[in-house]
Amino acid sequence: MTDTIAAIATGMMNSGIGIVRVSGPESLIIVDRIFSGDLTGAESHRIYYGHIKKKDEIIDEVLLLIMKSPKSYTTEDVVEIHCHGGILVTRDILDTVLSAGARLAEPGEFTKRAFLNGRIDLTEAESVMDLISAKSEFARKSSILHLSGALYQKISELKGVILEKNAYIEAALDDPEHYDLNGFPEELKQTVMRVQSEIRELMHTFESGRRMTEGIRTVITGRPNVGKSSLLNFLLHEDRAIVTEIPGTTRDTLEETIELDGLLLRMVDTAGIRSASDPVEEIGVDRARSEWENADLILLLLDGSVELTEEDRQLIRETEGKQTILLATKSDLPAIADLSGLSVLPFSVKTGEGKKELVDRIKNLFFDGKLQNADTLMITNLRQKNLLTRAGSALSRVLESLDNGLPEDFYTIDLMDAYSALSILIGEEVTDDLVDEVFSKFCMGK
Ligand code: GDP
Repeated sequence: MTDTIAAIATGMMNSGIGIVRVSGPESLIIVDRIFSGDLTGAESHRIYYGHIKKKDEIIDEVLLLIMKSPKSYTTEDVVEIHCHGGILVTRDILDTVLSAGARLAEPGEFTKRAFLNGRIDLTEAESVMDLISAKSEFARKSSILHLSGALYQKISELKGVILEKNAYIEAALDDPEHYDLNGFPEELKQTVMRVQSEIRELMHTFESGRRMTEGIRTVITGRPNVGKSSLLNFLLHEDRAIVTEIPGTTRDTLEETIELDGLLLRMVDTAGIRSASDPVEEIGVDRARSEWENADLILLLLDGSVELTEEDRQLIRETEGKQTILLATKSDLPAIADLSGLSVLPFSVKTGEGKKELVDRIKNLFFDGKLQNADTLMITNLRQKNLLTRAGSALSRVLESLDNGLPEDFYTIDLMDAYSALSILIGEEVTDDLVDEVFSKFCMGK
């Protein structure tokens, strides 16, 4: 890893400034080749003013921020070129840097170097990405907590406990005269159970953590004319969070995210809802049906201002047993529908009735009534959860061996398997494949 990399670190849009980041042993030399001033003897953590030139042509007037190793994001020599924020200008600066000898960085390569150079652990690296893509305040706070190394500390602590027990067993096997294993199995059992329960606790945070950060996948369903698109627009207009167009999909499956009192709802198949209000094209309900399986939550709408129809009853039957909330829409009109025996929430987009109750019901369904506090350590990443599962199962095997009175060697294998899973989690024991996989999900320039 001796080459010098460069990439645009700011978003590709016209803006006040754009930043091209260069990192590696040659970053100062390379930038010096294209900079109007002289960078020999340039000091760290200072800003230099001048021009970037390609041959004799001035590309832009810039500020250079110089951060020498090891006090930089990657721990390597880093130069940030702050230029005017036009897409073309920024791209030209990058091209000039590349032609002066740098290589175009891969997505996430700066953070990967920070990790490989030991400045951050793997959970911190992952939280950098989570922070950038955070769609809610909760997600942002939660990733900052991880970025500060909270998960790393917790996992290191558990690893320490396991290692200590394992070391004792190994010492006793090597030197039975000085280490006594009498009573040790009981003590080991207590410790393993304690570590295991901490691991389980973390694992249990996964589902709610994921729902808090990524949002609850929600489908709005109901026969034509019950008020689906009105509800969607009502929620969007009042509380529009960020509209995301998921890459690789057509506009047809546009997803929209709504934040309601701290709750993040990812509205699935909103295009289906829109086309459903077109009487010629009533494929909407069928499309929503196909989304039910992937959804966390179904909002089934029934028009409270008219009699229920057979289609309504059919939908009620079909959604039974799923996480469904029934809404009786148009509650500002006289209530006509016979909804006895059903747990329905009156809702009106005209008066806003039912909105608060809807939020409460969702909180009850998914978070036992109260939202998680972003200060609690939570796992939001499947990779991390899978490794915790592996560590937990290894510890279960230790407990089994203890209950069956098996010899000590059996415990050490499984103890070390748990230890190794936790090491991989924080990136202390990793393969190149894993590193590539984690960092390939990053954006350019990070
Ligand atoms: P969709 O076919 O299920 O998407 O239904 P729409 O959202 O297009 O609504 C159908 C009709 O019901 C429209 O004329 C809406 O204005 C009306 N509507 C929807 N919600 C309400 C409501 O809360 N109160 C009243 N009075 N009318 C509503």
